[in-house]
Amino acid sequence: MKKGSLISNKKKRFYITTPIYYVNSQPHLGHSYTTIAADVLARYHRLQKDEVFFLTGTDEHGAKIEKAAQKANKTPQQLCNENSKLFKKAWQNLNISYDNFIRTTNSNHIKSVRKVLQILYNKKLIYKGTYKGLYCLGCEQYKTKSDLINGKCPDHQIKPEIIKEENYFFKLSQFENLLRKKIMSNEFEIKPEERKREVLGFFKKGLKDISISRQKIKWGIPLPFDKKHTTFVWVDAFLNYLTGLEWNGNLKNLPKFWSPDLQLMSKDILRVHASIWPALLLALEIPLPKKLFIHGYFTIDGQKMSKSLGNVIRPEELVEKFGVDATRYLLLSACSFGKDGDISWEKLFEKYNTDLASGLGNLVARIITMAVKTKNQEPRIKIKDQNLEIKKVIQNSWQNYKKFLASCELDKALREIWGLISFCDRYIEKKRPWEKSKNRLSVINDLLIILTNITQMLQPFLPETSEKIFKQLGARLNSQEWCFKVRKDKILFPRI
Ligand SMILES: [Zn+2]
Repeated sequence: MKKGSLISNKKKRFYITTPIYYVNSQPHLGHSYTTIAADVLARYHRLQKDEVFFLTGTDEHGAKIEKAAQKANKTPQQLCNENSKLFKKAWQNLNISYDNFIRTTNSNHIKSVRKVLQILYNKKLIYKGTYKGLYCLGCEQYKTKSDLINGKCPDHQIKPEIIKEENYFFKLSQFENLLRKKIMSNEFEIKPEERKREVLGFFKKGLKDISISRQKIKWGIPLPFDKKHTTFVWVDAFLNYLTGLEWNGNLKNLPKFWSPDLQLMSKDILRVHASIWPALLLALEIPLPKKLFIHGYFTIDGQKMSKSLGNVIRPEELVEKFGVDATRYLLLSACSFGKDGDISWEKLFEKYNTDLASGLGNLVARIITMAVKTKNQEPRIKIKDQNLEIKKVIQNSWQNYKKFLASCELDKALREIWGLISFCDRYIEKKRPWEKSKNRLSVINDLLIILTNITQMLQPFLPETSEKIFKQLGARLNSQEWCFKVRKDKILFPRI
């Protein structure tokens, strides 16, 4: 074997998804949080030269849309078109770099869902039965008594209705053992660990076959083998992860990006994503997603965000007050990714001023000002001549940063960058490069190098800001030499 032939030149692929958001409501903070996180990871992998596909979109069928449209005196399709646009606009405002925005009313999606259902029916994995159960219209889900608090759905504070109807069922129970094995062995990985434990606990009660069709609901995809029924909205929605890659329902021709490397979601939709979704794939003999990562909820000043409490913080308000990049930063740094977090306007303002105005913004202004004041505004720094102490600090930071991004610890990756920012502040205080000394230029060069690395690390998180810093640095980088052409520009984050 020739030397080096073990090294593959093939690009790594990275397929990341957000859930598709239900269009009966407007984009809120939770949607934005998931989508910004996915965007950061997609951008990071693109910078690593991976081949990336980032999918998001809207979920547009079901009873809730039907009702909302009726109320608004619109057709369901009109309502979907309007609200789907709101999501697209929200993602534009937050600088989200998705590769496709899938809508479940898209004709290829509908055709493919029907093909899949026919395949499952032919395989005898779908059968006819009668279903009677408690159904929460808010969740579009049947509930068991143990799910309810005081007889009401805890998420919607409404009493579920008893529904009895002839339905088609999917043989979910048949896949329980295989699925449990794959979850336990991490072949189908669920993160963080406590979420995996939650799923395994849920499996202990046993997976029952689920009803996958509705007779009462007209706004849905008709079953190919019985047009009196429409497809249960979850089954329809899950398949977006395939049809979003332009898949046409042909099992022999799966998209090249299949399967997802990472599916992000909040904890309310974990159970269905860890049971019905992978079971459908097993039934179709399609490889499972590699990893689900589940994040928490935001509370506002310790309370649940709700219209009745009047404490709702809307994503567009944040962008208006702080700007796009600061909003991205404030949300992702607010809490440990994977856990619940608490925010408030007061905390957001404080964090903005501390971390962005006084932290990053101030450091950039200081370094650029010092560099501009020297006679050496276009330093060329040979990589081999780099200060060893500084080199070590930078290398160490990159190592941690990459490790945190690989494990979706986005807040920790940010903290690593801010660690470098405080390192620079301390370094400046110690070396006092504003005083005339013979080391002055080399200290400023060190700072330019660290700032360049900080800016590179910021790219996935704060894409516009990092571009602005690069411009001020006038950085041209290659493997041997880093050249700068420093010039001052506007303050990045004015104090609020
Ligand atoms: Zn509910």
